[in-house]
Amino acid sequence: MARVFNHQLGRVMSYWFPENRPERQFAAVFDTNKCIACQTCSLACKTTWTSGRGQEYMLWNNVETKPYGFYPIGWDARLLEALGPQAWKDGVYEGRTIFEAAPAGERLIGFAPEELDYAHPNLGEDESAAAVDKGAHLIAGRANAWMFYAARICNHCTYPACLASCPRGSIYKRREDGIVLIDQGRCRGYQECVRGCPYKKTFFNPVTRTSEKCIACFPKIERGLQPQCFANCIGKIRSQGWVSTPDAAREDNPIDYLVHVRKVALPLYPQFGLEPNVYYVPPVHVPAPFLVQMFGPGAPAAIETYRSAAHDRTLAGLFTLFGCTESTIARFAVRGDTAIAWGNDGEELVRVPVREPVTIRAPWDESLAVPRWNIP
Ligand code: SF4
Ligand code: SF4
Repeated sequence: MARVFNHQLGRVMSYWFPENRPERQFAAVFDTNKCIACQTCSLACKTTWTSGRGQEYMLWNNVETKPYGFYPIGWDARLLEALGPQAWKDGVYEGRTIFEAAPAGERLIGFAPEELDYAHPNLGEDESAAAVDKGAHLIAGRANAWMFYAARICNHCTYPACLASCPRGSIYKRREDGIVLIDQGRCRGYQECVRGCPYKKTFFNPVTRTSEKCIACFPKIERGLQPQCFANCIGKIRSQGWVSTPDAAREDNPIDYLVHVRKVALPLYPQFGLEPNVYYVPPVHVPAPFLVQMFGPGAPAAIETYRSAAHDRTLAGLFTLFGCTESTIARFAVRGDTAIAWGNDGEELVRVPVREPVTIRAPWDESLAVPRWNIP
């Protein structure tokens, strides 16, 4: 095993290969507070990439309700239990990663889901963490009955477990954008990647007898466009771009700004040790212990920062740009009341007002001499 630095853990860790970062790294931020579980993203992906034979059960993009939703069943709960204590101290992870917890002779700890584990992708949908009495209502931040939606794709990890576990060397991480792909010509269907990926984002195709996974819509990425699940997101919760290492973070790079500068977007289960590159704004109404387990020790501070966005023009402006262009946003600025986005080649993509004007209409329309029924 090599020794590599994982900035999400704040320490060096063991990994199967030496550190070898790409020229730039595909990354994304998902704002969980805006997701409505409409599954448009899941369907956009399904109709684009997984409508073939052997792919029926596959959802490269899925949206599950936490705490009781899983696809496949128990994907995270089973691993969290196997990992043992997962304490953090001053931002440094003190527990073991899935690579460090591997038994002698194995590359990592993992498990292979069974066919039935994939059969109920909507398991637990809209179920809250506790029973809700008849007539009760939810009070954000103070209720024990909570749930939220977690949209998930492959994280195109810096230290991919799928890649580390493939005995054929069929999985590779692209130098130019950090996207992780499976070479369909080399794959022999051993399914070690399915067992190894803790996020369960590689899938075995029983017809082609090879494994498949999210490809980050790389034909779109190569043309400066965001993937299908981003472009079609109804809630405008997603933005795709490029993430730097913390020492090279740029304030005008939208992903760097949210991840490194403001620390409002956090990795999913950083303790697994893969340095995943999809970052989440945690849901504001969920108890801190659950969020710390899921997104690391920065979750309470991230929520405070997110709540302050209403009075923070730069943060509010950047969130307003989510979902406003199909192109990858490489740079942004907020000038006065306008948020501006630029693409990979420096071209201006879009300008949006940070706050939409509010018009209050009179309840009586003088010109038509009719009442307006939409005024309460
Ligand atoms: S999320 Fe899983 S499939 Fe995707 S790169 Fe990481 S380990 Fe591989
Ligand atoms: S399309 Fe967007 S809002 Fe709808 S479920 Fe997917 S991530 Fe959530």
